[in-house]
Amino acid sequence: MKIIRIPAGIYAVNCYIVYSTETQEGIVVDPGGDVETILKSIKDNNIKIKNIILTHGHGDHIGAVLDLKEKLDVPVLIHKDDLIMIQDASMNLSSSMAMGAVEIKPDELLKDRDTLEIGSQTIEVIHTPGHTPGCISLKIGSYLISGDTLFKGSIGRTDLMGGDFDQIIKSIKEKLLVLNDETIVLPGHGDNTTILAEKMYNPYLQ
Ligand SMILES: [Zn+2]
Ligand SMILES: [Zn+2]
Repeated sequence: MKIIRIPAGIYAVNCYIVYSTETQEGIVVDPGGDVETILKSIKDNNIKIKNIILTHGHGDHIGAVLDLKEKLDVPVLIHKDDLIMIQDASMNLSSSMAMGAVEIKPDELLKDRDTLEIGSQTIEVIHTPGHTPGCISLKIGSYLISGDTLFKGSIGRTDLMGGDFDQIIKSIKEKLLVLNDETIVLPGHGDNTTILAEKMYNPYLQ
């Protein structure tokens, strides 16, 4: 299994391409922009993309979804509690962002503990509401893609529509900090971290 990080779009969202080195099957998580760069990486590594998965419905994470879906012809998946947001450009904030209005009809809706397979690798959906109602994190072996829920030394903002500070803290403490200390956290913005480092140093989690 390999994970490629592509800082995508003008908001530099971390788009991740996760793929099996046995079968070349893969997923794209949060294609926020730079569709040509993402497509080139898929082609260069000979990856067969099965799904586009969104950690949540915010505009900065979805800017290249429609272009990528058209090129790859694969289903777009998001948690059911962000369905309303992703279909509405004012709710997902894209209408007031630099990329312009984006409205997406997802093909499948996810819920807590759903799993997907790429090759022999299981990807587990962990519902981590708080930044948005439908925020998810993805556990992939010893990695965790945390979207805008958990960052290195910080957490996602909760002052936007559907945000809830108590809920994001509860999500992180009860569903993410219980993972192995060595788990490598791949956030939606900024640098990687680990569960242990966030337990020890994240000021929001003390
Ligand atoms: Zn967000
Ligand atoms: Zn974001």
